[in-house]
Amino acid sequence: MTSTWIEYAAASYNIHLTNAQAAQFETYATELVAWNERVNLTAITDLPGIQVRHFLDSLSLFQVGNLKDAMRVIDVGTGAGFPGLPLQIAFPGIQVALLEATGKKVAFLDHIIHTLGLTNAKTVQARAEEAGQMPEHRAKYDLVTARAVARLPGLLEYMLPLAVVGGRCIAMKGTTAQKEAADARQALSVLGGRLVGIEPVALPDVDEPHFLVVVEKIAPTPAVYPRKPGIPTRKPLRG
Ligand code: SAM
Repeated sequence: MTSTWIEYAAASYNIHLTNAQAAQFETYATELVAWNERVNLTAITDLPGIQVRHFLDSLSLFQVGNLKDAMRVIDVGTGAGFPGLPLQIAFPGIQVALLEATGKKVAFLDHIIHTLGLTNAKTVQARAEEAGQMPEHRAKYDLVTARAVARLPGLLEYMLPLAVVGGRCIAMKGTTAQKEAADARQALSVLGGRLVGIEPVALPDVDEPHFLVVVEKIAPTPAVYPRKPGIPTRKPLRG
């Protein structure tokens, strides 16, 4: 799959990686597997799995992401950097903040940013509920992304406060995408969001359905949101 995933990215997402970018992805995969021996970063450790389920899956955001130079992006609960870091490698002109609560994962992200020389990427070690109330992060991002962090009603309380009005949130979801979006109606209306669409994503040799849930921020989020750490997922906004 080594060169095939790169061809797939070109054919499906119109992403044409240079040799230098392909080498950055290779280093990222090698370091991910090496660090995974001592820090719990990923359950996927085979190279084809990393290329498809981490790299290509992250890059599928290009289908709807509409990325532009200097765009400010924050990836909430980024873990080992997905989807934020692949987006940064593929599109070095954007400015990516990688938001992650766990210090050991942030140490890995700092190591990768440094090793790959990604001058437009930075880490933010905080919980999303805290970052959403910090003046330097609240309503500052054009695009807010998240994969495998929380169910949508709670997740939107992490994401929408960080977006500018007119910006977008994209949550990467599996089979439960439609159900979670239906359950998130109240959260959307309270937090200032509007569901734009639920886009299917196809990945090579992957049977489980993948979806991008796209939300536009249409109004400022009331100051009381996000609530204190733990509350958005324990007591999600529901109608
Ligand atoms: N997004 C990555 C991916 O798809 O590979 C990581 C997914 S992992 C299952 C969820 C990550 O979100 C963990 O690293 C966890 O520490 C982080 N996380 C969960 N809740 C969070 C919160 N409220 N604020 C910041 N990070 C959070």
